[in-house]
Amino acid sequence: MKNRIFTTFTTIEDKNIAYHVTDDFTSVDKAREQLAMKYNYDRTKLKYMEQIHSNIVQIVTAQTNLYKCDGLVTNLPNTPLLVMVADCIPILFYDEKKQVIGVAHAGRNGTYLDIVSNVCKIMIGDFNCEAGNIQVILGPSIQKCCYEVSQELANIARVNFGEDVVSERFIDLQMINKKQLLKNGLKEKNITISNICTKCSNENYFSYRKDPKCGRFGGVIMLNSQE
Ligand SMILES: [Zn+2]
Repeated sequence: MKNRIFTTFTTIEDKNIAYHVTDDFTSVDKAREQLAMKYNYDRTKLKYMEQIHSNIVQIVTAQTNLYKCDGLVTNLPNTPLLVMVADCIPILFYDEKKQVIGVAHAGRNGTYLDIVSNVCKIMIGDFNCEAGNIQVILGPSIQKCCYEVSQELANIARVNFGEDVVSERFIDLQMINKKQLLKNGLKEKNITISNICTKCSNENYFSYRKDPKCGRFGGVIMLNSQE
């Protein structure tokens, strides 16, 4: 029997779910507990990352919950994967046919380092997924309207990823990730990109550029065996 693919992006209403941006661990515990109750999963099985703006992707095991990397892949059922962000792109991956899921944290660095390709390579190489069956969701994140960087960083994007990903000093990180996914053989119709800009949309998401002291919201994906 196939597991259902569960995906969600949390909001400010779900509170800060990251330990690394606060001293108040109790409140994070509470927020994570409430999230687990809201979506009916076992919090002790939640896999998450000490995110280091790398392109390192790891395969999760049942025993370990915390990984030092920026991407995770698994085929374990009822094992939620969490990526935490505030402006960076939370990316969810799944292959319903092969029952494999993944997450990636793609900020500027992870994007420049092509982290999405590393997730695809593991899904295809280690879990026998077909590129054409992999679905990807890019969640709410800072968009080109607000993502202004230095001239030097804009030039790096222009040279490496094309003229169309940059306007003056504004970068389209979502488009760069999409180009990288297409290069791995993924289908355009299987790539969904949220058009919510965390900084200027006034939607319910934390934005580091709006408030450097903000919390983190999350992208969660799980193979759910429950009816
Ligand atoms: Zn914006």
